[in-house]
Amino acid sequence: MPIGGRKVPPVAVEKQQARVASTISGREVDLPAMWNRMFEPRVLTDYGPDGFAAIAKLPGGESLEWCYGCGKCTPVCPVDMVGDYGPRKIHRKVQTGTDLFAAPDLWLCTACGNCLRVCPKRVDMIAIMPAVREAALSGAAVPAELQEVFEKTFRYGNALGQNQRRRARWAETAGVPVRILATDPAPVDVLFYVEDYWSFHPRGQDAARAFARVATALGIDWAILGPEEKTLGDSQRLAGEKGLFDALVEDVTATLAKYEFQRIVTPDPHAFNALVKEYPQRGHTFDAQHYTQLLAPLVGQIGWARELNLRVTFHDPCYLGRQNGEYDAPRTLIEAIPGVQLVEMGRCRENAYCCGGGGGGMWLDGFTSDHTTERLAERRVREAARTGADVLVVCCPYEVSRFTDAAKSTGHGHLRVCDIIELIDEATRDGTSGG
Ligand code: SF4
Ligand code: SF4
Repeated sequence: MPIGGRKVPPVAVEKQQARVASTISGREVDLPAMWNRMFEPRVLTDYGPDGFAAIAKLPGGESLEWCYGCGKCTPVCPVDMVGDYGPRKIHRKVQTGTDLFAAPDLWLCTACGNCLRVCPKRVDMIAIMPAVREAALSGAAVPAELQEVFEKTFRYGNALGQNQRRRARWAETAGVPVRILATDPAPVDVLFYVEDYWSFHPRGQDAARAFARVATALGIDWAILGPEEKTLGDSQRLAGEKGLFDALVEDVTATLAKYEFQRIVTPDPHAFNALVKEYPQRGHTFDAQHYTQLLAPLVGQIGWARELNLRVTFHDPCYLGRQNGEYDAPRTLIEAIPGVQLVEMGRCRENAYCCGGGGGGMWLDGFTSDHTTERLAERRVREAARTGADVLVVCCPYEVSRFTDAAKSTGHGHLRVCDIIELIDEATRDGTSGG
């Protein structure tokens, strides 16, 4: 029978009555038909291998057909909790004739990695989805909002389509001098890779200024690229634009080669992921850290000025925690802030719920809302609110705007959302200074 055709039920072979002897007592027992029903061998004709063959030939797509249907991935998939998703379901859909290259499902995975954590067969959606998306880019199925971000990134070097000359505008009001390597190219310890949302988004800029003040107070020797910086493009890669990512690698590494630095530090877990996993594969290895990893060992040197008196809960970014194993550095910083009490959400650390921004999800909110019952960020904000926290703290530049919007739309506008560095900055100032 062809794929998608009507399924023929197997033929039952029943005896009305069977007598079986107990292996213990030897006594014979009558069994009615319902206990001895057998089936004739069934030829599996209601699905075929063609869908898997097309995906498996893409580098990275091989593992989808390894699924053996255990179902472990379904309850941990954040998209399944607001829809009908997960590797097992995608596997079954492909098996029964869905063309994944043209299906909306292709764009819903946030590459959060929680399914891979539990999958005994290592079905790797972080490799499968980018591979299929890349192959689908030439088709008409690419959501327009994502296409627009690809074009902005290609044209301007950032996902927000901002003028690169404004990259370091945030630094003008940081209250401390921020060194830009193009104008002061001497060797530096920390090259701070600001990335797009801390460079251009107003709430990201607040965090960038807070970092500048804290890093400067700690005596860290640091500098930025300013207008020469372009995004590292990891989310564009996971959204399928591998060609754009490869072009960015060339541009970025050519710029980095102009300067001498010991390590790259970034506030963006996606950039961090690119630096530790993707750039080395292309021959560019750096000593890279997330900013929480830079500051956590220095926490004893931070000059606290006041207690904040706050109950906070922390959202683990997928690409710092689950994808790269760093759960402790952010918590070390949070717990060191005077007057701050950390309360964990039920889903935290390796099982943390996704904010919905990974794998291109940051730019697919309109599309995703047509295929899910609730935004992932809204669901996460409800979890945060249930802890009774005053503040939801984060350390990924995508999350402040996502969770702030979600707090408003779910009626939890009282829940403040901010980056860890903003709380550190607040606690190091006496509360009367501006900037
Ligand atoms: S956990 Fe892995 S093997 Fe099990 S159903 Fe999910 S994808 Fe398939
Ligand atoms: S990577 Fe995350 S969003 Fe994608 S299928 Fe796996 S659990 Fe679901």
